[in-house]
Amino acid sequence: MARFKLCKHCGDLHQVGRVPSNCRDEPWPRSDLPAPHVIRDQLGGINGVFHHGALTRFDSKRRFRQATRDHGLIEVGDERPQDKPREHIYSNTRELERDVAETVQFMEQKGMTADEAA
Ligand SMILES: [Zn+2]
Repeated sequence: MARFKLCKHCGDLHQVGRVPSNCRDEPWPRSDLPAPHVIRDQLGGINGVFHHGALTRFDSKRRFRQATRDHGLIEVGDERPQDKPREHIYSNTRELERDVAETVQFMEQKGMTADEAA
């Protein structure tokens, strides 16, 4: 025997399991990723990471960073690279050609090949 349920959206009766799509609840907002992206507080290693300023091991990223700040230190290595204009050593190709020629001449005097120099 079919069971019906009173719809809270349109006030009509719908068969259980056959609710029209326009009467269904909005699905929870979800990411397109198959799983949520979770950033854990746990540091790697068996006993965490040794902090050279506090002389203690930490297994929490938050406590590690707090100890870094407490000791007046700066964490490096996660900064974004700066876009610097490329410096050209040679202002013109003649200087470059002269340098290459001098290097080749030096290598020939020493009896070296290009493979040995690499
Ligand atoms: Zn309905």
